[in-house]
Amino acid sequence: MVLRSISGIFSQDLAIDLGTANTIIYMKGKGIVLNEPSVVAMKNGNGNGKKVLAVGKEAKLMLGRTPENITAIRPMMDGVIADFEVAEAMLGYFIRKAHARRRLVRPRTIIGVPSGITQVEKRAVLESAGLAGAREVHFIEEPMAAAIGAGLPIFEPKGSMIVDIGGGTTEVAVLSLGGIVDSISLRVAGDKMDESIQEYLKRKYRLVIGLSTAETVKMTIGNAHPDENLERIEVKGRDLTTGVPKALTIDSGEVREAISEQLNAISGAVLTTLERTPPELAADLLEKGVMLAGGGALLKNIDLFLKSVINLPVNIAEDPMTAVAIGAGKALDDLNILRGLEKR
Ligand code: ADP
Ligand code: MG
Repeated sequence: MVLRSISGIFSQDLAIDLGTANTIIYMKGKGIVLNEPSVVAMKNGNGNGKKVLAVGKEAKLMLGRTPENITAIRPMMDGVIADFEVAEAMLGYFIRKAHARRRLVRPRTIIGVPSGITQVEKRAVLESAGLAGAREVHFIEEPMAAAIGAGLPIFEPKGSMIVDIGGGTTEVAVLSLGGIVDSISLRVAGDKMDESIQEYLKRKYRLVIGLSTAETVKMTIGNAHPDENLERIEVKGRDLTTGVPKALTIDSGEVREAISEQLNAISGAVLTTLERTPPELAADLLEKGVMLAGGGALLKNIDLFLKSVINLPVNIAEDPMTAVAIGAGKALDDLNILRGLEKR
């Protein structure tokens, strides 16, 4: 009994949001202990295969800046594991880092996975987690975790809607009584916006910029709906015609135009889900509206934009980027939640 309570105190159970853009780890009793880009830089060894050069923040800095023998990989790129080996190396690195070398116990782990994940992909995550030292791996569907993290009353007999806009995917889900009633996983989210900004500048100004620059533009002056502030930013890249570096200034209206296709795809997915929602639950949504989570929820005026399309209240989670990890963490803290979910 004593032993058990001690291991409880020191248990370093983890909740992991293995996102396409960012991996976030919550440690029981501690909160968020790691938040890093899901990026791995690999060096092509001569003869003896590839070697991991850097993981996380350090590796993200290398994206788009690598010489020929180094590749920066995003193993979760498409919302699922795109590169098993690299994903395994990354997950192992992050789990060890979260533990900061305190290797007391093998952690019980709960991992957020996209709602559309296949059995094969699940097994790959399971294997990676096992190799990385986790024991007793549980899964929680990301929309469920995001909804719990955002504080939605998902166990009540009332409808809630969560829209999680990440890097690779946007997940729209309606939840009630601890289950997912309906969901859509769209492969359009933050990454596609970055690509669109890149395309737009190439087409309009013959300016070639990197994806990291495009992301910075989006995060700095991007908005989803106009307001009285027209913001500007200087962007630097390469002139497509002359091939030499050049800089020019663009405004937030141009960025909004560049990402309009993605915005419309996201609002379209929300509309489709609303149309399919059973009437009783739809009535609940009319009152409570929609909750936004994921890094994409930080895009300026995304709430105003969505509200203008669906005509329902739109709220943004308190900390949208960590909602999945926090929600999975709550399930870890309160195993009743987990059992409730797994019984279904
Ligand atoms: P994932 O769950 O796929 O790892 P995240 O929820 O971490 O994704 O969100 C990452 C996405 O959010 C990226 O595309 C990033 O560019 C975008 N993002 C982060 N902050 C902002 C911001 N302030 N404005 C617009 N987009 C943002
Ligand atoms: Mg996510």
